[in-house]
Formats: sequence, C-alpha cells, structure tokens
Amino acid sequence: MRPIQMVDLVTQYRRIQDQIDKAVLEVIRSGKYINGNAVQVFSAELSEYLRVKHVIPCANGTDALQIALMALDLQPGDEVIVPAFTFVASAEIIALLKLTPVLVDVHPRTFNLDIDKIEAAISSRTKAIVPVHLFGQTADMEPLMQIAKKYGLYVVEDNAQSIGSVYTFSDGTRKQAGTMGDIGTLSFFPSKNLGGYGDGGALLTNDDLWERKLRMIASHGQSQKYIHKMIGCNSRLDTLQAVILKVKLSYLASYIRKRKKTAEKYNAELESQVNWVETPYCIPVSSHVYHQYTLKVKHNRRDDLQKYLKTKGIPTMVYYPLPLHYQPAFKNIVKIGGDLSESEKLAQSVLSLPMHTELDNEQIRYITSQIVGYE
Ligand SMILES: *Cc1c(COP(=O)(O)O)cnc(C)c1O
Repeated sequence: MRPIQMVDLVTQYRRIQDQIDKAVLEVIRSGKYINGNAVQVFSAELSEYLRVKHVIPCANGTDALQIALMALDLQPGDEVIVPAFTFVASAEIIALLKLTPVLVDVHPRTFNLDIDKIEAAISSRTKAIVPVHLFGQTADMEPLMQIAKKYGLYVVEDNAQSIGSVYTFSDGTRKQAGTMGDIGTLSFFPSKNLGGYGDGGALLTNDDLWERKLRMIASHGQSQKYIHKMIGCNSRLDTLQAVILKVKLSYLASYIRKRKKTAEKYNAELESQVNWVETPYCIPVSSHVYHQYTLKVKHNRRDDLQKYLKTKGIPTMVYYPLPLHYQPAFKNIVKIGGDLSESEKLAQSVLSLPMHTELDNEQIRYITSQIVGYE
C-alpha cells in the first residue's frame, strides 16, 4: 500500500504534469510574471464556472477577507458576526481593522453558523456577518440573508474551503458558495479544493460598484495609474499561479466527484460498523465538496483514537482544537455573542481523516478497518 498522506498534492500533480509544466515554462519564458494575460483568462473562466459576474484575484484568502472588509468602510468598534468555530483568518481580519468580532455558536451537526443564534447577537453596532462555509458545505444562506436584510447587514462569505459547493433556495434557485452575499472570498492555498502551487486568493461579487472598489483596494487604492483615491494594499495573484489554477480549474468538477466518492466509501464502512463516531452530516440545501472529512468522536475518545491511528501510519488532523474565544490573541478582544458550548464541544471531539483526490480503495479500506478495529 502507498503511504497515506493527509493531503497528496504530488501524486495529483503527476497526473497533469505535462499541462502544468508547459504552462509554467511559458510564463517563465514570457517574462510577464505580474498581471500577465493568464490572470485575466483564469479570472474569466472562474467567473463562468461559479456563475458570478466578477472575480477579483488577489494574493491569498486572508487578503481577500481583508480587502472585502476594507471595502465596507466600517468604523472602529463596529461589530462583525463570525462563527466561534473556524480558522483564525475569518476573525483575525475583523480585529486587524479595529472592528469587533462577535462570536456566534455553530450548529453541532453542520459546523456552520447556527442561524437560530444570530439575531440574539445583533446590536446597534452590528454591521456585517461573515459566514464561513466550513469543510465543504455552505452555511444555511437563505435564512441568513433574510436576517441580514432585516437588520441591514453586509454579508461577506468566507468561502476558502467550499469552492464548487452549491446552495439551493426554497424557490429552486441554485447558487454557488461565495456568490450569495455582497462579497465572497476564496483561497487557492495548495491544500484547498482548488489549490495553486503557492499562495493565491480571489474575491467574488455580482455588484459592479463593489467590484471597482475591491480592485482599487487590492491595487494600492489606485483609481488610475499613480492616482490613489483611498488607502489600499498590494495584493496580486502571480501569473505563475494563474496558469496552474487555470489547468486545475478544468479538473475541479472531477476532483469534487473524487472527494465525494471517497467520503461515501468512508461513510459506508463507518456508519455500518462504528457507533462511537458520527460521520459528516450534509444539510439537504447544500452540496458537500468535502474539503475535509470530519468525524465527531464520542465518549472523549478523540485524542486516543488520533494517537492510535498515528501508530498505524494514518495521519489525521484536529480542525480546530480551540474555539476563537479560547485563543490567546482573541480572548480579550472578541465579544461573546451568546452561548458557545457547541463550538467548545466540537473542539474536543472533531477529527478529520485524510481527504484528497488521490486516496485509493486499499488506503480507504485500511483507514476504516483500523477505526473499526480500535477498541
Ligand atoms: C485557508 C482559509 C483562509 C485563509 O486562506 P489563505 O489563502 O491561507 O490566506 C481563510 N478562511 C478559511 C476558513 C480558511 O480555511
């Protein structure tokens, strides 16, 4: 059996090596390393794939969140609602801009913002909600957008993990993750579902005014060359990353299918044989693209199971071991938006199994049989 990796990017690269190598060499030989034509071509193809009007490329997913929040023109002390259980970047950017992150609990089954707990966290200073589409499925966006509308709040979707996931509204309308709020953000970090071979990110919006402002902020606040209308930053997608991402975008649908198949195989073995783990729950209104395959391990057995699997050559990860209000950098600056006990419990019980496009049946069977055999 091939050694099992949490993420296997090299095997995936070998399958598309000819296309990637050719594209990368062309860029190097062209000398157009910044803002080459490929950046626009990739952005246009991505906007078609996601059925969103504008794709604004930038340097990474954290920058995308920063640029999105800068565009909202909020005042220091304004409050932004964000889940307590997420990767730190979602809240870090709020704090960096001197805004107050208001932490709201997540739903214990979906790991995404608990819609029923949002309204209680809204105050007169609340200006925006940052839902995070965690692990591969979207937050429940229809009721979330209704709350945002009712209170006049902006919505910035942190879609670093769920590119390609589709949400279905009650009238049958289907929309891609990251295209339902005012602005959506993406990360092309190598291990993300659409990953480059370095850093990259993008902003998504259907609104022409947001688009112009986001582009301006990402480019030193420039309205035209050397005329700076506002304080911005410098955040670009490299031409090299753009050509790699263009190749990989053409495989994204098949990569998602592969992840789903792997999840189904994990589910089939674990659901029938292990009653002390809970397999990922899928909300009916969102498709799941399995950025992570995350179990909930019952009876405080998570850490022991993780150690045991490691001795068997099976890497696993805990995403995330601390909710944000327990993080040293955050505990004194966040506002607690209600009871956060589900986020706290998840931090103790979640365990993500290896998930990538290159897991074969032998590896999947070995992983599930080791969990089944663990007593
Ligand atoms: C990866 C990630 C980010 C940040 O992306 P980078 O490209 O690493 O800056 C933000 N939010 C979430 C939820 C992520 O998983």
